[in-house]
Amino acid sequence: MSKYHHRWHEGSNIDLTVGKVVCVGKNYADHVKEMERVFSDSSAPELKEKQAVLFLKPNTAVCNANQNIPISHLTHLGELHNELEIALLIGESLDRRSKNHIDAIIGIGLALDLTLREVQADLKNRGLPWERSKAFDGSCPLSGFIPFSSSQTTLELDNLDLELTINEQVRQRGNSSMMLTPIEPLLVEITTLFSLEPGDIVLTGTPAGVGPLHAGDVINATLNQQTLIDASKFT
Ligand code: ZN
Repeated sequence: MSKYHHRWHEGSNIDLTVGKVVCVGKNYADHVKEMERVFSDSSAPELKEKQAVLFLKPNTAVCNANQNIPISHLTHLGELHNELEIALLIGESLDRRSKNHIDAIIGIGLALDLTLREVQADLKNRGLPWERSKAFDGSCPLSGFIPFSSSQTTLELDNLDLELTINEQVRQRGNSSMMLTPIEPLLVEITTLFSLEPGDIVLTGTPAGVGPLHAGDVINATLNQQTLIDASKFT
């Protein structure tokens, strides 16, 4: 497998060091309800307290979503779930003093926040951090990025469609308008605690439709009907 570089959707490499990935949990109401229903998970205090659930993945979690994605070595750890998410590529430093957070976004893409669901449930039950379930090597396949600047009008951050199909069946479909914490306030909240550097990625949460992945599954994913992950295979 070739070394990962951030890259534009049309194929050229982006000259930025691959940084950390800052993620938000439970940012779509339909997914929060799904977790309560299917996994008896009632840990959603942020719906009342309006505080986003934040966690990190290291840069070793990042891989190319348009190459084969190895998962067979994880099967002994229980179910591995898809979480399709809108990914923001950060191109300028942001910290707690920053204004104009949207100006720091230079690309919009798609990510899979791969999650070992049974490991995560066990960690939650025991009140432990989530890294073993979400921050492992290869847990963040990323698509190429569509260039973004705050002055353009083709991509509206609060009206982005995302869709994941597995073996040609739709598994997840959502729109960024369904986010509990939309993209701009999410960046503000993240940067009160975590500075963002050029090359960092922000994942913005998953809509409903998480479920198990198996070796041999083939996925496609679109952002505003544009294919960003094209027939990638889990191996
Ligand atoms: Zn997620």
